Amino acid sequence: MKKGSNIGSCRFCGQNVMLEDGAGMTAPQLEEAATMRCECEEATKYQESANRRTLAKQRIDELFGKDAGEFRQPEEVKAIMINVVDAICDKKMKAATITVRTGLACRIMQMAKDKIKVVREISNNNEYVQ
Ligand SMILES: [Zn+2]
Repeated sequence: MKKGSNIGSCRFCGQNVMLEDGAGMTAPQLEEAATMRCECEEATKYQESANRRTLAKQRIDELFGKDAGEFRQPEEVKAIMINVVDAICDKKMKAATITVRTGLACRIMQMAKDKIKVVREISNNNEYVQ
């Protein structure tokens, strides 16, 4: 075995996967890394779902993170949005709208085929509803 590498096994099919950077990993990290590289059907589905989760979190960062200009939110607010992404990915909920302030909201929802959509909703109307 190459120096710095280690072997992990896929969580679903048990196949061993050589991990080049596996030497410093804990057992759960080895399993996760092996599962992320395995090509069996269950692992492929898991990878797609993990990637969707990562992409949705990146999207929150784009829309409300440090480069979002006037829409930038403090970490506490972003943490709530990220928790919503996790809850939706874990199928504990379907959708949520986080109203940051009047006229600015983040809507996170599960779409067809388990896709996750993150949108920034801005409304500039000055109408007041009594
Ligand atoms: Zn597998």
